[in-house]
Order: sequence, then structure tokens, then C-alpha cells
Amino acid sequence: MSELIVAVVSALVGAVLAAAIVYMALRRRAEATPESPGHPAEDVRLLMDVLRPGAILVGPHDEILLANGASETMGMVRRTRVAIPALLELIRESRQDGELSSVNLDLKRGRGKPTLQLAARVQPLSDGRVFVVADDRAQLLRAQESSRDFMTNATHELKTPVGAIALLAEATEGAADDPEAVTRFAGKIRAETQRLTDLVSQIIMLSRLQGESPLASAQRIEVAEFVSLALDRCRQLAESRKVSLTQSLRDGLYVLGDRDQLSTAVANLIMNAISYSDERARVVVSSRTVVEDEQRFVDVAVSDNGIGIAAEDQQRIFERFFRADHARSRETGGTGLGLSIVSEIAEGHDGSIHLWSKLGSGSTFTLRLPAAEPPDDDLEGE
Ligand code: ADP
Repeated sequence: MSELIVAVVSALVGAVLAAAIVYMALRRRAEATPESPGHPAEDVRLLMDVLRPGAILVGPHDEILLANGASETMGMVRRTRVAIPALLELIRESRQDGELSSVNLDLKRGRGKPTLQLAARVQPLSDGRVFVVADDRAQLLRAQESSRDFMTNATHELKTPVGAIALLAEATEGAADDPEAVTRFAGKIRAETQRLTDLVSQIIMLSRLQGESPLASAQRIEVAEFVSLALDRCRQLAESRKVSLTQSLRDGLYVLGDRDQLSTAVANLIMNAISYSDERARVVVSSRTVVEDEQRFVDVAVSDNGIGIAAEDQQRIFERFFRADHARSRETGGTGLGLSIVSEIAEGHDGSIHLWSKLGSGSTFTLRLPAAEPPDDDLEGE
């Protein structure tokens, strides 16, 4: 929800700022003498081009003075005129009232094209000029919908262990004179509490991942280092399930990013590989470099010979709370959030996550990250 509020507030602040910038540049142009340096009109055009929303500057006779590329893509302008009658009406009203106004417009486009949902803000300037900035609300609505779905699912997921704990506590009270039953119920309460703790910490992690970019404070990290950290976190689980963990890591591969996040992503993949395989299975973690479209990447692959994932579930397993096998996920204490955390971390590092899987044969998850140059002393050592 807070993401939504931030998005709306920043869109409004953006609109007012953009209007202020355009206004100031226009004033500078009015004050500029022919000899004064700079080209304010050119500056305004450049400023409008860097704005992501559609932006147009309309003259006193409704003529388009300037329009950025986005406004043309959105169909706000046709040659030198405003192409949307409802928007033109608002421009005229605003010019007359001298006040900032806004409107939401749902506009049907050509056959087969989705409806355009414009959120437009109109700011009158001096001399009858008007500045218009408009976002396509469809994107905002999608974010709203996904945030609503997340809240519904998270509430449901949190209620399950909380309800179980309440029932178990009641059962414990009722079995006060049966020590064996009390011990059994206490064990179950502990398991449900652990489930609740895991859920809460993963929900917090997801919301943190959405708030901050790991590349803003990125460090150069050796791939073998964060993969080893991940392997260390999974050894106990592997031992308890008698799964063999093998690594085949190349030295001297580097990426830019956040060490903790990257080791969490790889650990989530390894833990799944262990959990969704039978006892005595084999899990292999490997790394290599690949070149795609002339860019160098590092691939970290986690392969198992476990239960595999059906083709129809392969896209959906990255969705929050989606589980292909509910019973098994519950048995292993899964939250359904592990892979969405991995894909969020991959995206935050300008990377991606790929899956190959065959039901009954096993799966390979590959985390692809842009490769970084090795530090100078590594190069010297070669
Ligand atoms: P969970 O906490 O349930 O493991 P994840 O987001 O980590 O949630 O994974 C989502 C679902 O994807 C799991 O419930 C499981 O059905 C499937 N899955 C993930 N990794 C594997 C794997 N290595 N092999 C088979 N199925 C997997």
C-alpha cells in the first residue's frame, strides 16, 4: 500500500516540478536578450523529453508548442493540435480559471488496442500557455491490483499458523493430565511458530527488496564467495536429508551487488533443490561466464535430480505464494515466497532467473548476473 502512496505522491510532485521547470525556463526566455547565452526553449524541449509521462506545452490558441515522445505514443497530440477533446476542454478551463487541475480519462483506441487510462494534470502558465503532463494509469492500476492480491494472500497465509497455534494451545490446556499429549502439542506449536517466523521474515525481506536498489551501494563480489556462503547455510539441511551437495565453481568471476542478497538467492535455490528431491539425491552448484548480445554475464546454476516441475507450473512458481505441490511445501515448511525473493534479487541486480525442468527428472535454476571486471590485483596475478 505504501508503495502505491509513494507512487501517487511522486507522480504529483513530478508534475508540479515539471510545470515549475517549464515555467521558469519560459520566464528566462521572456527575459533573455538576443545576446544572452543559452537557448531556453531548447532546454525546455530537452527537459520534456526526459520526462517519462506524456508532456505537452500548449499555446494561447490551443496550438501545440512542444510535445515529448511519450505524449505522441499515448496519442495526446495530432500534428499541431491536442488530439483528445476531453483534454482540450480541461486545458481551456484551466487557462480560464488559472488553476492546476487534474482528470482521469478512459479512452478507447483503435480496434484490438487496450483502453488508454490517462491521469492528466494541467497547469496554466503565463500568457495563455498551459502545460499538460499525463501518465497511463493502467500501470498504476496493475501495481494496485498486485498489492491487493499480496495483502489478501499474506493475510490468509498468516492466519493459518496463527489459527493452528490457538487450537493447539486449547488442546494443550485440555490435556493437562496427559504429559505425552502435552509434549506432542508443544512440538506442533513450535513447528507452527517457526512457520510464522519464516513467513514474517520473508514478507519483510520482500518489502525491503522492493524499496532499495542493491546497485546503489554495490560492491565487487567474487561469485565463489557468495555461493560458498549459501552452501554453508544449506549443509545442515542437506545432511539431514542425506543429499549430496557438490560444487563446481570457477575462480576469478566477479559481479557487482549485495553479498547478503546474492547468497540468500542462491541459498533459496539450493534449499529448494534439497527439499524437492528424494533422500540421497544429488544437488550440484556451478558457475561459468556466458556472452549474450556482446555483454558478459555470470551464470550460477543449481541442478537437482528431484521431482521436477510440470510445464504448466513453470511460469507460475515465481509468483508470490504459489506452490506446485502444496502438501510437500507444507511438509518442508515452505512459505511459497522463496522463488519470488530470488527473482526480486535477480531483477535488483539487473539479472534474471531461468528454469529448466522435467517432471520426474529434476530441475536446473540458473541465476544470470552481469559480470564485473576482476580487481586490478587479480589481473596482475594472471
Ligand atoms: P516454497 O517455500 O513453497 O518452496 P518457493 O517460492 O521457493 O516456495 O517455490 C515455489 C514452488 O516451486 C514450490 O512450492 C515447489 O512446488 C516448486 N519448486 C521450487 N523449487 C523446486 C525444485 N528444485 N524442484 C521442484 N519443485 C520446485
